[in-house]
Amino acid sequence: MIPPTFDYLRPKTIPEAITLLQQYGDDAKILSGGQSLIPMMKLRLARPAYLIDINRIPGLSYVKEEDGHLKIGGLTREAELESSPLIRSRYPIILDTAHVIADPQVRNLATLAGNLAHGDPANDHPATMLALGAKIVATGPKGDRVIAVEDFFVSLFTTALQSDEIVTEIRIPLPQPRSGGAYLKLERKVGDFATAAVAAQVTLDSGGTCQQAGIGLTNVGPTPIKATKAEGFLRGKKLAEATLRQAAHLAADAAQPSADLRGPAEYKKGLVKELAFRALSRAVERAGK
Ligand SMILES: Cc1cc2nc3c(=O)[nH]c(=O)nc-3n(C[C@H](O)[C@H](O)[C@H](O)COP(=O)(O)OP(=O)(O)OC[C@H]3O[C@@H](n4cnc5c(N)ncnc54)[C@H](O)[C@@H]3O)c2cc1C
Repeated sequence: MIPPTFDYLRPKTIPEAITLLQQYGDDAKILSGGQSLIPMMKLRLARPAYLIDINRIPGLSYVKEEDGHLKIGGLTREAELESSPLIRSRYPIILDTAHVIADPQVRNLATLAGNLAHGDPANDHPATMLALGAKIVATGPKGDRVIAVEDFFVSLFTTALQSDEIVTEIRIPLPQPRSGGAYLKLERKVGDFATAAVAAQVTLDSGGTCQQAGIGLTNVGPTPIKATKAEGFLRGKKLAEATLRQAAHLAADAAQPSADLRGPAEYKKGLVKELAFRALSRAVERAGK
């Protein structure tokens, strides 16, 4: 299928890209990896008159720890996350997530920033970013605005980004000692979007009591969901199996799935419960290593 016609613009700097966004407003879209936008255009679900390709803007692709955060640049691709020694050694939850997105061809182009900015509740990174307490840096005409990830997903395919803002960085607080996380997804076949998926991150104290917990749910509601009751339930407790099962039950309560070609709502709730238990168990195991 061929997308509708559009004008193609290729700014060389962020300020130039922002000026173009201001000039064309809702008629324009940022093009990063194009792995969501171009299919949407081919299906006539999006008809931007102007595509602003930011791929030639230098300095937007990096993974580094700095100033108390893991910082991931706005043009960092899934494949770069997968091959990053830092991600591989310190952030297995992000590696879990990148690894189950689509296929290698898609991951060679798709960006983390695009995965978040698209606002699709079926995308995998939003739940992981919710579990990790990430912040999203949106650069616009007035400079940088830092948005907490729990405020970022507003409704189906809608985020807190203004039409003249670009995601230039994702910041994740550095994990404390004895932290661990995991992302588990059930898909109908390799490369598919999730039927449901769960991200879990925990931090334990030296006695094994949970100090901090983050849980995010994928594709079981109009937005990615932060399972706050389950998170609160875990804090201050020893993470024995019965406690994790109860937290998983609370996480399933937070899910708001609809029946669709991937299954009925009750099945998806049950799936969240089991995936949450398994993701939490793996997170605890990793925190102990
Ligand atoms: C066959 C296939 C299978 C897929 N399977 C999965 C899957 O299993 N899980 C999953 O999570 N995803 C999946 N995807 C989606 C893919 O991961 C997304 O395309 C990608 O995450 C979006 O990133 P992108 O860089 O390609 O964004 P683009 O497609 O370039 O852009 C997507 C949207 O975000 C906006 N945008 C992009 N970058 C920025 C930015 N820096 N600042 C502001 N706005 C921006 C664009 O304007 C557009 O509206 C699949 C895609 C394909 C084609």
